[in-house]
Amino acid sequence: MITRYSKQREALIKILKSTDCHPTADWLYAELRKQFPKVSLATVYRNLHQLTECGEIIAIDAGTGCEHYDGNFRQHYHFVCKECGMIYDINVEPYENLDSEMRNKTGIDIQGHTLLFYGICESCKSKK
Ligand SMILES: [Zn+2]
Ligand SMILES: [Zn+2]
Repeated sequence: MITRYSKQREALIKILKSTDCHPTADWLYAELRKQFPKVSLATVYRNLHQLTECGEIIAIDAGTGCEHYDGNFRQHYHFVCKECGMIYDINVEPYENLDSEMRNKTGIDIQGHTLLFYGICESCKSKK
């Protein structure tokens, strides 16, 4: 049986996978409300939390004050623009050796890593 609850979750995943703008919960909430006018922001947060927990999506803390979400759960790196705050995907292969290198250096049971680069994006650069 498909509950209304899981329908909202499905829709949320679909929205996330259809964009590469790494949206915030507020943005997703606005989008989801077009399909489910009665959905609450708390529900969106709860769904996002659960999806992040089970690894279906990833949450990015870009230091912008609120969490951004990404429907691409494959490991990849991000670039955040210091001017406009946009988060971009960086299309390079992840450094697979980094985990084992750090494991060897620290003795900590490292299971993965994330990397965030920052600077000025192309479109902000061209505006100057
Ligand atoms: Zn920018
Ligand atoms: Zn991404």
